[in-house]
Amino acid sequence: MERHLGEARLPPGKTLDGFDFEAAPVISKAQVMALAAGDAWLAQGANLLLFGPPGGGKSHLAAGIGLALVENGWRVLFTRTTDLVQRLQLARRELGLEAAIAKLDRFDLLILDDLAYVTKDQAETSVLFELISARYERRSMLITANQPFGEWNKIFPDPAMTLAAVDRLVHHATIIEMNVESYRRRVAMERKRGPGRPPIRATIKTAAE
Ligand code: ADP
Ligand code: MG
Repeated sequence: MERHLGEARLPPGKTLDGFDFEAAPVISKAQVMALAAGDAWLAQGANLLLFGPPGGGKSHLAAGIGLALVENGWRVLFTRTTDLVQRLQLARRELGLEAAIAKLDRFDLLILDDLAYVTKDQAETSVLFELISARYERRSMLITANQPFGEWNKIFPDPAMTLAAVDRLVHHATIIEMNVESYRRRVAMERKRGPGRPPIRATIKTAAE
């Protein structure tokens, strides 16, 4: 377990226990807990896609699920998408792309955080597509992104490849849309408002009390 925790490179302190599900009412806690148990979807190499605006808790939730899975005995790697793409591009230049992708097979789950931040220059090589194809129906991926599919043409070299990548990703996938208000912004606003509960949460006093 210790070794698997070390290799997972999870951001520290982002647990499911520390995730406030009440702040994200669009997310089903039961569904997240089922995913965090792992068995069915990871055994099938199915995927999990988390979409939503910045600050909504995608990375936190991804890391929390990752940690729970490691605790359940699965092997996980958490990485920023752009970092992994960079590593794979380097491997390609040294003619070791296939080997690098094969090496990632040891992870039951690859968490690619922030797909949107792959740059144009990174998209020109198709390493991300190669990775998605290689893992298809064998090994799972959890991907977070600000944009659901519409903007993905910027992430792959051409529209046909975007379509093929999306097709493989969604074939066996759970998609969670986290259309929640930025948690950062909310915390900042509540701090500014000062002590006391915000008016919308206040208890309404009736004449009878
Ligand atoms: P995103 O990846 O969607 O941009 P993050 O996961 O980085 O958002 O969340 C931004 C910050 O707010 C992080 O510090 C995260 O821990 C915190 N946060 C977001 N949503 C929640 C939540 N529902 N409960 C507790 N903390 C949250
Ligand atoms: Mg994030």
